[in-house]
Amino acid sequence: MRRALHHQTFAAMSGGMNTPNPPLKAAIVPVTPLQQNCTLLWCTETNKAAFVDPGGDLSRLKAAAAQAGVEIEKILITHGHIDHCGEAGTLAKELGVPIEGPHEADRFWISRLDEDGKRWGIPGEPFEPDRWLQDGEKVTIGELELDVIHCPGHTPGHVVFYHAPSRFAIVGDVLFQGSIGRTDFPMGNHQDLIDSITRKLWPLGSDVTFVPGHGPTSTFGRERQTNSYVSDYVLG
Ligand SMILES: [Zn+2]
Ligand SMILES: [Zn+2]
Repeated sequence: MRRALHHQTFAAMSGGMNTPNPPLKAAIVPVTPLQQNCTLLWCTETNKAAFVDPGGDLSRLKAAAAQAGVEIEKILITHGHIDHCGEAGTLAKELGVPIEGPHEADRFWISRLDEDGKRWGIPGEPFEPDRWLQDGEKVTIGELELDVIHCPGHTPGHVVFYHAPSRFAIVGDVLFQGSIGRTDFPMGNHQDLIDSITRKLWPLGSDVTFVPGHGPTSTFGRERQTNSYVSDYVLG
């Protein structure tokens, strides 16, 4: 099961977290055939946790929470795509926890989760978040406070979650190691995506480690040097 869970604890991912008692820990669990990085985030002080983007494979996610020994308090959503939130509503009902996010501009994506699920052959169920998020707001997990950063482009209502004390962000499909999100969907916009990355993510600092929606983690600094879409060199 270890291999299937594909667990990575955040303490092992970042030098900044190698302090004796990091306030935040994270485990990444790729879900759905699209290998979307669902992140289990928890407050080490209270053991309260959140699933960020629990798109599917719910039994695997519940096993990860049990293995970490944490109590799920809420579900956070970066954007309305099927691999990120197809089964979020189902999980919220099962666990009796609220859903926070994304920004309301992604309502149309969430309302078509059942059709998109059929197209991809994976479960999808529309839901109504308990809270839509806006730029500059905060979300909490136990005693942790994360910043909400609205980053449109891949989808119009995409948000990023950022924990400043840990220099750690969950960026969904805005930015990947070596790539950026697609913008050829309805309401996608390439320039908005570039602006989101360069005006909202880069200012957080080059030392920030991020978990993308797919693939390995990286840092903003590394992407500013090497990313063939948004490096400082490419953008001039
Ligand atoms: Zn997406
Ligand atoms: Zn995705």
